[in-house]
Amino acid sequence: MSNQEYDLVIVGSGIAGSIVAYQLGLQGKKVLILEAGQEVPVDRSGYMETFFKANAKTPESPYPPTTQNPSASTPDNPLGLPDPALENVPRYTVLQIGAWRNAKQCYFDYTAQDPGLNGSSPDAKFAFGSSYERIGGGTTWHWLGTSLRLFPSDFELKTRYGQGVDWPDGAAYYDALVPYYEQATNHIGVAGDKEAMDQIYSLFKVSPTGTYGQNYDYPMPGIVESLVDNAFNSPTVTALTVDGNPVDITPTPQGRNSLPGERRQCAGNTNCIPICPIQAKYDATVTLALAQQTGNVEVRYRSVASNIRVDDNSAEVTGIDFITYDTHSGIQTGSGTAVGKKYLLAAHAIETPKLLLMSNKNTHFPHGVANSSDQVGRNLMDHIMYLAWGLAKDPVYAYRGPLSTSGVESLRDGAFRSQRSAYRIEIGNEGWQWAANDPFTTLADFVFGQDNSQTNGNAVNAQGQALKFDPGLPDNAMLFGEQLVNTLNGIYTRQIRLGYLIEQLPDPGNRVELSDSLTDHLGLPRPKVTYRVRQDYERNAFVSAKQVSTEIFNAMGAREYTKAPPAPVFYGNPGEVTATNFQYQGNNFTFYGAGHIVGTYRMGNDKSSSVLNPRMQSWDHSNLYMAGSGVFPTVATGNPTLTIAALAFKVADHILEDLAAG
Ligand SMILES: Cc1cc2nc3c(=O)[nH]c(=O)nc-3n(C[C@H](O)[C@H](O)[C@H](O)COP(=O)(O)OP(=O)(O)OC[C@H]3O[C@@H](n4cnc5c(N)ncnc54)[C@H](O)[C@@H]3O)c2cc1C
Ligand code: SF4
Repeated sequence: MSNQEYDLVIVGSGIAGSIVAYQLGLQGKKVLILEAGQEVPVDRSGYMETFFKANAKTPESPYPPTTQNPSASTPDNPLGLPDPALENVPRYTVLQIGAWRNAKQCYFDYTAQDPGLNGSSPDAKFAFGSSYERIGGGTTWHWLGTSLRLFPSDFELKTRYGQGVDWPDGAAYYDALVPYYEQATNHIGVAGDKEAMDQIYSLFKVSPTGTYGQNYDYPMPGIVESLVDNAFNSPTVTALTVDGNPVDITPTPQGRNSLPGERRQCAGNTNCIPICPIQAKYDATVTLALAQQTGNVEVRYRSVASNIRVDDNSAEVTGIDFITYDTHSGIQTGSGTAVGKKYLLAAHAIETPKLLLMSNKNTHFPHGVANSSDQVGRNLMDHIMYLAWGLAKDPVYAYRGPLSTSGVESLRDGAFRSQRSAYRIEIGNEGWQWAANDPFTTLADFVFGQDNSQTNGNAVNAQGQALKFDPGLPDNAMLFGEQLVNTLNGIYTRQIRLGYLIEQLPDPGNRVELSDSLTDHLGLPRPKVTYRVRQDYERNAFVSAKQVSTEIFNAMGAREYTKAPPAPVFYGNPGEVTATNFQYQGNNFTFYGAGHIVGTYRMGNDKSSSVLNPRMQSWDHSNLYMAGSGVFPTVATGNPTLTIAALAFKVADHILEDLAAG
């Protein structure tokens, strides 16, 4: 490697790392990005092909290392998934949730379950529900694109509602972030409807103007709402209230082109997760390319940061060690140390704390870098998702448009927040694809005479309504020809889905540590995860979500098909089922991950309880900064990436200030 000293060395080329690189590159600063994954391909047709061939169309299915060429099933690897011990940059995938206790299938190690738990025990540990990528450009390759700001109230949950913690300086942090939110919205090219967001901002009395931004509008007009959205946006639904708040259906601001521009216009084919074939959806490869075009940003792919060096006297970071490898399954080819004036970690909220904890060989920092507070890896959060699904009374033609075009933002704040988590509701355009693995499940039901979709048998929902789609058919009908086509069309075109993004409280016991027994192919420890949904505060929101879904479906004349999971059975027991099931107030719930991995290197005003100061600079090492949702003190109520981008613009300014100061 060259001996060049860079102005900034960045770990990770996702949206956070790429924005910072771009901003510094524009100012003529020399930047090196160490990226663990493979390079951004010249065109995306290879990833598309891998996706087409994939047996399971998961968010990760197009991307290396592929999970889609299963080897022969063996007793200790029944799914035939690649063994993370034999991969250089393994990452956690959706397929691993069900295989969470099998180290040959699951990248994460998990802490042991306590004995004697019952189905509602708050200390039950679960599989973590959310995944991420380790490739050039990072996880926005497969994000949905929802681009919402948080509210000022999200920044002071403790002050207003006595829960969780505040962000540093509380709502003032929101005010400081507004110009960066505008920068991020422009950069991503968000398509949105300002008037609709103004209504939400007025509802929540966002100061000072009660508007999304007095002189500010989205760079692109909003994406056309779907027929699914219109079905929800009926007077009987919008007349409902939840804990005093109205149920308003609001078009979602989203990072995809509504008009042709520098990217193509969205063609509406509902493939945004896992990959937009035409790049109508923003992803971080856009920013990474801009960064490289400045001529000042160098990206080293297949370079896995493995250790952070710290000077014994000054406590400044002096270099980041990295390992190079040939291909994802190949051999180590070398190693090196990247040296810069400043360093930024942007490897997302699992791999960043892992890197900090792995860096435990510095004399004065035996518990890892930036970890004098012992907060590194703690407070792992997600939006814990509750899904509800049903059949509309008339066709709504699901499976068209982006995966989601509207949601309910009006339930994201209120006095109830002292008792239960807030949530936003996402309206899905993808029928029962997420909820019930359709179109495959219903097709198989009517071909093979099964009833996994509940449309082909004698199932009854919690309201006592019979769920068989065509009462004229026998139970477990086996159809073919025109009757099969007509029946499937009748069902598919009516499918609707709601997803509740439930706010999770920071809990120091929910955490990422280093596995003491499992390593990847480069010999680096794998993450050990402890994850619980233990607060009544969060569980109360599941009860609310269940009730609200039923009210919404009833109000629109839809039939609800939400399937309660089996009662939790914890591991060690024969018939174990629990990966993400829990019991609360007599209900069995399943939760899903939202992909919003948050909180493992949080910022704060107090160095004893946070990893970073409000400038996202390590309290312990003044030339070390971090970006990404790991810096969030709370997960709040909006999808995180617009805030990640705004904070990346902000930290770039701080790094430039500090470089200028010398
Ligand atoms: C299915 C899904 C849908 C989503 N939809 C939305 C949405 O609609 N709206 C929203 O706001 N958010 C959404 N998200 C979340 C969003 O994708 C993430 O918040 C965002 O991509 C994180 O960006 P990042 O730059 O912080 O991390 P990443 O994009 O994950 O980038 C981290 C980079 O670091 C690299 N890296 C990791 N370890 C190392 C190492 N040791 N050395 C060198 N490099 C390393 C990785 O390879 C990667 O490129 C979704 C997530 C998922 C999973
Ligand atoms: S609907 Fe299709 S074209 Fe539009 S963003 Fe999603 S994948 Fe891309």
